[in-house]
Amino acid sequence: MPNMILIAEDEEAIRELIRINLSANGFACDEAEDGLQALTRAKAAKPDLILLDWMLPGLDGLGVLRRLKADSDLAAVPVIMLTAKGEESDIVLGLEMGAADYVTKPFSNKVLVARIRAQLRRGEEEPTEEIIRYASLTLLPGQRRATLGNEELSLTCGEFDLLALLCARPGHVYTRSQIVARTKGDDYPVTDRAVDVQVVSLRRKLGAFGERLETVRGVGYRMRG
Ligand code: CA
Repeated sequence: MPNMILIAEDEEAIRELIRINLSANGFACDEAEDGLQALTRAKAAKPDLILLDWMLPGLDGLGVLRRLKADSDLAAVPVIMLTAKGEESDIVLGLEMGAADYVTKPFSNKVLVARIRAQLRRGEEEPTEEIIRYASLTLLPGQRRATLGNEELSLTCGEFDLLALLCARPGHVYTRSQIVARTKGDDYPVTDRAVDVQVVSLRRKLGAFGERLETVRGVGYRMRG
């Protein structure tokens, strides 16, 4: 299946040129001529990448980008901004808002295709596996790997599940019974007491960082928010 690119550009001549260029390079294309249409088409066509003109009628590029990033189905779709020359503040704002890259008009067809391919490759290299980050702690649930800074932690299944649960929602207090319910494996029993034991062991393995795993007296545990 060819990669699908949504071209959100109000100037018909530019949109047409991009479409011809991308089609010639083996991409499937969908088009939108204003901001709201860009959102509608993004939801309907599920593109692999969106080329987003910054100056769009109705809802502008920034507005479109914000809504894309707030939509859990579309947040991961890479967005390349098409901006006018000299609009550096737009570029910075767009990148801060989660745009993957930008191309300044007028651009060469080759550059545009190269930027698109680079983004699509990145998507393939980085599997969309869930990553939980909390301060200097990184958890990869799919691989059951946990690193603190550059150091790999050696955790039991129960410890890993507990840490992942707490780190996914810093500041939220979980009761022991909630922790038991959420971390219970098929092959290992978890009791309220076991939760306390796991917390002690986790704190030890986390060293100074373990202070962030807080006991909320009479309630349960949380990662400091
Ligand atoms: Ca425009």
